[in-house]
Amino acid sequence: NAYSVLKPSCCKKVENLLRNLPSTVSRVPCGTSLESVANEFIRLGEEQAFYVVDLGAVERRYLDFVCQLPRVKPFFAVKCNPDPIIVRLLAQLGCNFDCASKSEVKLVRASGISGDRIIYANPCKPQHHLSYAVEKGVSLVTFDNRDELLKLHQLVPNVRAILRIATEDEDALCPLSSKFGAFMEEVPSLLSMARALDICVVGVAFHVGSGCRSVSSYISSIENARRVFDMAESMGFPPFTILDIGGGFPGFDGESPITFHEIAQGIRGHLDKLFPPQVTIIAEPGRYFVGSSHTLVTRVNGRRHRTRGDTSANSCLETCVDYYIDDGVYGSFRDVLTLGITFYPNCFPKSSHRRILKSTIFGPTCDSIDCIIRDYPMHELDVGDWIYFKDMGAYTISLASSFNGFHKPTCKYIYGF
Ligand code: PLP
Repeated sequence: NAYSVLKPSCCKKVENLLRNLPSTVSRVPCGTSLESVANEFIRLGEEQAFYVVDLGAVERRYLDFVCQLPRVKPFFAVKCNPDPIIVRLLAQLGCNFDCASKSEVKLVRASGISGDRIIYANPCKPQHHLSYAVEKGVSLVTFDNRDELLKLHQLVPNVRAILRIATEDEDALCPLSSKFGAFMEEVPSLLSMARALDICVVGVAFHVGSGCRSVSSYISSIENARRVFDMAESMGFPPFTILDIGGGFPGFDGESPITFHEIAQGIRGHLDKLFPPQVTIIAEPGRYFVGSSHTLVTRVNGRRHRTRGDTSANSCLETCVDYYIDDGVYGSFRDVLTLGITFYPNCFPKSSHRRILKSTIFGPTCDSIDCIIRDYPMHELDVGDWIYFKDMGAYTISLASSFNGFHKPTCKYIYGF
């Protein structure tokens, strides 16, 4: 361990978890800088990219969520970061889980979590994944189309089904409604079919897109969900009992023009006004719980200086530099390509007296698109130096491949006291 235990933490539930993981989680005094934590791991022999995972940040986010939205039961979207330690931590705190595949159900069940704390929230499920989940006690699933209803009828007729509706999510970082969610005009025929097949529909789900950028997307979706509740009642269904408001809450400060607190403030009253207390409201936060908890620390494995400009007119020449680090767009930085996200590097203090150069940072593979950022002004680094990237907990490790034989970074868990 990088740090020794000096005094117990205030949170009993987390204490229990940490007691069971004594060699996995390092205790650090609260207020210790990230740089000194990372340096300690490097001093202890790390040679390749690693994550510093602050479990306290996950805990704070969870507690903030249930405090700001006391009526909403969170189901952590495992896809965002399927880390067994984070799953166990959230489970200890009382969180439930949103799984989208057999492997995710397996992971959550292996952490001792029962099927009744899991929602299978993938509207189009491979048959054997669905059968497996239901065998393991999962009874709540989503659907948005007729073929999925047939599948439920044939394979798992006793599940409780939630109808996912489409949202206005075009301005989200990652819109989802072009792929999932029934349109409002499709709802009556889907409900009729569910009734004809004797499938128990218990509620409505929506997702405003991952990295939602407007509170009004939540509001209009909540209003549409109310309309679906009313439609179902007018068709003779027993009153629906579950509203699932999905995810979309920002992962860290500055990721979105709206904050989680603004969203919570904007929807709290609306939920209470439109849904009586007997309706259970759930959510599926992914990036909100883990976005800020991970810092990726990477090593510079190579460097190449470049001279740019007109060589015939010496005065215009500019020295730039390329760095090659040990994680890239085929690893943790996949969203550079898929969503056009910019990830900004940070230097450790020792670099501050160096000259500032336009720096391009490449990943480790042989592919030239494996580039994290171009022409970013940074203090000059040497081969063997380390740099770090903050707020790397969401859709990073979970999207990483081992292309070209480069593996995912390891995780170093810390918890402040
Ligand atoms: N629920 C579902 C069904 C999703 O598809 C996703 C993300 O794709 C999430 C929850 C998590 O969303 P976020 O990470 O934006 O909170």
